[in-house]
Amino acid sequence: MKIRFHGVRGSIPSPGAHTVRYGGNTTCIEVRSDTNDLIILDAGTGIFPFSHKLLPEVPLTANIFISHTHWDHIQGLPFFTPVFIPGNTVNIHGPQDPITQRELSEVLSRQMEYAYFPIREAELKAKLNYISLKERQTVAIGSARITNILMNHPVINFGYKVECGPKSMFFTGDHEWPINIYKPEDDYYNEFEVHIAQQRCAIIDFIRGTDVLITDTAYTEKEYTAKKGWGHGTFRSSILLAREAMVKRCYFTHHEPTRSDEALESAFAKALAENGVGKGDPEFFLAREGEAFDW
Ligand SMILES: [Zn+2]
Ligand SMILES: [Zn+2]
Repeated sequence: MKIRFHGVRGSIPSPGAHTVRYGGNTTCIEVRSDTNDLIILDAGTGIFPFSHKLLPEVPLTANIFISHTHWDHIQGLPFFTPVFIPGNTVNIHGPQDPITQRELSEVLSRQMEYAYFPIREAELKAKLNYISLKERQTVAIGSARITNILMNHPVINFGYKVECGPKSMFFTGDHEWPINIYKPEDDYYNEFEVHIAQQRCAIIDFIRGTDVLITDTAYTEKEYTAKKGWGHGTFRSSILLAREAMVKRCYFTHHEPTRSDEALESAFAKALAENGVGKGDPEFFLAREGEAFDW
């Protein structure tokens, strides 16, 4: 299994001198199975430069898995060059919203309406297939198996586990651990605590034993106090998740858009020190645009 980051920034693209080292494009991760099947996790702006690197492989089949439909995870899709080339097949998987019942195809095609984009979806030359996924549904792509789980975010958001033989990785998409909406003196407080604990256990059980974890790590603990309920994780929540799930490696991603390379490295070092990361812990890394590794 090969993994390469093409976009590691959260919320909004952040190009500029301050993000040169870690990159300014929003979420996009390339995963290659052992038989070189092309799996793409999220279609943030990082998918645009990535699509140019794919041109030597044309005609190709791209299997895109969307965690959720917030802009920073889908905005690059209309610029994914293979969709303009006949002979290519682009399979786009993602969750169907259980509340609105809106299909993935409807949500994604809206960003190609004339008000937002000059080319209509019907004019695209590749074969496009939309696949709405149910929770915990497994999809086989060549030698890989991709299974989702519902995470916690202000819109339906799937985390994806990719397994290929004995190797595996998990990507959270955007995720904040649920917080109790009641006060300790309220009747429902204890009941809700139990519910939260069960949700946490279910997610950690699902991830447990995965080799590589790529997780939303938008905020420091200090920043989080003003951003509760925005749907993102912290350095500390990511460290605790990686430990509890007993992964081998953990990559922090969805970097806060205003954070410079220097500030990112310093927040990372501080979090590892404050949480006593050391011997016996998973290896922790900051995800960096362009970085690839074999697993
Ligand atoms: Zn996001
Ligand atoms: Zn989001």
